[in-house]
Amino acid sequence: MKMLEVQGLNVRYGAVKAVLDADLEVDDGELVVVVGANGAGKSSLLRAVAGLNKHRGRIGFAGADISARRAEQRVKRGLSLVPEGRHIFGRMTVLENLQVAAWGARVDLSAEIAGVFARFPRLEERKHQVAATLSGGEQQMLALSRALIRHPKLLMLDEPSMGLAPKIVAQMFEIIEEINAAGTSVLLIEQNARMALSIAHRGYLMETGALSGGGDARAMLEDERLHEAYFGKA
Ligand code: ATP
Repeated sequence: MKMLEVQGLNVRYGAVKAVLDADLEVDDGELVVVVGANGAGKSSLLRAVAGLNKHRGRIGFAGADISARRAEQRVKRGLSLVPEGRHIFGRMTVLENLQVAAWGARVDLSAEIAGVFARFPRLEERKHQVAATLSGGEQQMLALSRALIRHPKLLMLDEPSMGLAPKIVAQMFEIIEEINAAGTSVLLIEQNARMALSIAHRGYLMETGALSGGGDARAMLEDERLHEAYFGKA
């Protein structure tokens, strides 16, 4: 089954065309990555799928056409976005952030919170601390936990490695891989192309609003044309 099916997606900001006729698919259980430079339109694409900006085109999700649905209806159907910059509530505690994330969802909150703390013991140690005082990595873990509490069918992550130390980035990617292996479909947007492709099944490349590729992630990792532009020198 196709979990996500995007056809002819367009996003524009006045005269700026941020996403141009993009087609993208995520199968049930797949981990798909979109790589591309800063400003290529990756965030605009994810935000459109989440219903957070104006867009044209068709968005199919878990068998239904959600193109005309509002953002909160998309969330209720099982689509979760962890936005760039994390967007946690800085003045609330870790625990309060988790409680708020579950509002309106049919979940057993105490069991879910126990699950979060089992996965991220650091968050349990800091459960009464206000979120703004957490480290960057801990804030990213909290943002991710907020999405996971709702048991999304598709988890969309916008630059989860942004601003994190290399060791924490590696941990973050391991966790994303684990979440996917446990059955959640994942759509990941990353500038850290090499690492993202190394955990993905398939990858797309985004360049000035246009999406291409959609093939095997390993093959993309070995594609000479991508090396210089996206993988750095390492
Ligand atoms: P980044 O990693 O920096 O977020 P990106 O690949 O996600 O880059 P977008 O943020 O989607 O790219 O931006 C795509 C283009 O649209 C850029 O040229 C950007 O300047 C422009 N843009 C994004 N948001 C807006 C906005 N709200 N108003 C006007 N232009 C915008």
